[in-house]
This record gives sequence, C-alpha cells and structure tokens, in this order.
Amino acid sequence: MRTITLIPGDGIGPEIVSVTLEVIKATGVQIEWEYQEAGLSAIEKYKDPLPEHVLESITRNKVLLKGPLTTPVGSGFRSVNVALRKEFDLYVNLRPVRSFEGIQSIWHNIDLIIFRENTEEFYSGIEHYIDSAKSAAETIGIVTRFGSERILRFAFDYAKAHKRKKVTIVHKANILKYTGGLFLDVGKTMSKEYPEFETNDRIVDNMSMQLVMNPHQFDVIVTTNLFGDILSDLCSGLVGGLGMAPGANIGKEISMFEAVHGSAPDIAGKNMANPSAIILASAMMLRHIGELNAANKIENAVIRTIKDARFLTRDLNPENPVTTTVMAQEIIRNLG
Ligand code: NAD
Repeated sequence: MRTITLIPGDGIGPEIVSVTLEVIKATGVQIEWEYQEAGLSAIEKYKDPLPEHVLESITRNKVLLKGPLTTPVGSGFRSVNVALRKEFDLYVNLRPVRSFEGIQSIWHNIDLIIFRENTEEFYSGIEHYIDSAKSAAETIGIVTRFGSERILRFAFDYAKAHKRKKVTIVHKANILKYTGGLFLDVGKTMSKEYPEFETNDRIVDNMSMQLVMNPHQFDVIVTTNLFGDILSDLCSGLVGGLGMAPGANIGKEISMFEAVHGSAPDIAGKNMANPSAIILASAMMLRHIGELNAANKIENAVIRTIKDARFLTRDLNPENPVTTTVMAQEIIRNLG
C-alpha cells in the first residue's frame, strides 16, 4: 500500500481534506496517510511551523497532499507554503483552469494551464526594513537563468506532450528589465526549439485585461512567481472562483498537491467551503502516482455533480446551497 504524507492545514483545511479522503477511499485506491501538522497548529504544539519530523515524512513518502496553511499578513512567521516549495525545490506550480458545465459564469469552455515558477523572484524571502524606524523596506527578487530555463522547459515540454496550441510567456520586462528581461529572453530563445506550436508574450498588466476580456485566445501560460500567483486567482474567477482551482507543486523527486485557495478564515468551521479544488488536486495526485482510473473517476464525478447543480456549496449556488459534506457525498455518489 502507498504511504502519502497528509497535512490537513488551517481554517477550512481540515473540513475539505477529510471529505477528500472519503472521496479517494470510495474509488477503492488504498492509501496509508501519514498525518502531519504544519503552520499554526504546529507552532502551538511544537513551537515550529515546519518541524523536522514533517520534513522527514515528506522526504520519505515523496508525495504530499496539503490543505491550505495560514500565513500572518505583514509580520509573523514566513509562509510555510513557500517554505515547503523551497525546501523540496518544487519549482513547477501547475495550475489548470477549466470551465465546468453548470457553473454560472461569464465565460464557458475555458481550458487554460498556468505554469508558475515556484522558488525564485519576490518569494525568495530576501527582504528587510532598512532601519529600526521602518523608514523604508526592501524586497529583492532574484531570477536566475537556471530557474527560468527549468520552468520554461517544463511548460514547453508539457505543451508539446499534450498537443497544446499556444504558449504565452507573461512578464513585466518593460519595467523589470533585468529579472523580467532574463525570463523573457530565455523563453524566446527556447521557443525556437518548439516550432509545433505558437509562442507569444504579454506584459502582465495587459495580460490581466486580456484574460478578463477574451480568455479563449490563451492556452498555456508560463510566468514568474508573483505574477503566476496573482494570475491563477484571476483565472479561477473566470471559471467559478477559488473553490474550483486545484494545483500541483512539482519537483524532481517530491510533489505536493493542494488547492490554489487559502485557509478562508471567513468561512472556516462552518461546513460551507467548496471541497472541489482540493478534491481535483487529489485527482492530480492520483494521476501522478499512476492511479489513472481513480483520477478520471474523481474528475468525472465532480463534472457530474456540478452539471447536475442540485448539491453545490454557497459559492456556486448562493440561493440554495448545501454543506461541504453534502456536496462531497454527492461527488462520491457520482463516482459511478
Ligand atoms: P483565501 O483563498 O483563503 O480566500 C479568498 C476568498 O475566497 C475568501 O472569501 C474565501 O471565503 C473564498 N474561498 C476560498 N476557498 C474557498 C472554497 N474552497 N470554497 C468557497 N470559498 C472559498 O485567501 P485569503 O483570505 O487572502 O487568505 C487566507 C489565508 O490563506 C492567508 O493566511 C493566506 O496566506 C493563506 N493562503 C494559503 C495558501 C496555501 O496554503 N497554498 C494559498 C493562498 C492563501
């Protein structure tokens, strides 16, 4: 039996993760879960947001399913999510964005893949106030040729393997001439090796407008860390919101699967969070470990549940919502 590390997370994390485990169990795939705590609960228990034994568990099992973790805003401990990505060199953040029939949204038939560089730039943690009066602050964003090459290579190879039609490199190289310029330069040079699909580039501000006005012109998007973070939330808004957006963090040896959204403190503990994002992330995880049948079953069950539209959480059906648990039970019923 496969052993996988599980971090239920903070806020809505434990609610959406527990129903996800039921969905996976109902597919018949046998997984032994190694429960670990990180973030707020680990600080309370171990005085460390990312204890050594958690890192050991992930190193041993190579795969992690993770609920969202809270990061204090403006001060306090650094993001455990970012720390995990850096610790295990999970340099690819793959975030698919797709429309689900039945969701009330402006756009339909959206099928985008966002590749976000996951370890560099403004998330490197090189920042400080210049003096004790906090009269100025500095954050240094480092973009390397090595880091740019490996995320761009992954995105181009993915586009080729999945017969996608276009890759758009998103940057701000008009202003960030060095960091943005390097990323764009590497991308443009590499694109010549992939004549089978079109490669273009967009400045991130224009890209944001274009995504809202005409998202169908895009296919695969590859960008640096901060822009990837922002654009993936924007894109989730095109297909029904954060409750529908799964993600994978992929490294050479270790991979971590999670929802794009955070711990949603405003709805935590109320049994009202949409469990779809983490359930879809668990399907990505199952595909990653070779359980293709179970992964397809879960994705189809989510598609059916959304299409049927009777058992949806408040974010998708504010008029007549059901709880997280009821929506998950419907997904299990739709596993077929
Ligand atoms: P958030 O993603 O938690 O929530 C944004 C909005 O979306 C909220 O209104 C929330 O109610 C809603 N939402 C999110 N997930 C939902 C779901 N499954 N179903 C229905 N509605 C949902 O973003 P935030 O409020 O800016 O951040 C809260 C905390 O989460 C912060 O501490 C932040 O650092 C952390 N965070 C963690 C991760 C991660 O663990 N990977 C990602 C993003 C944010």
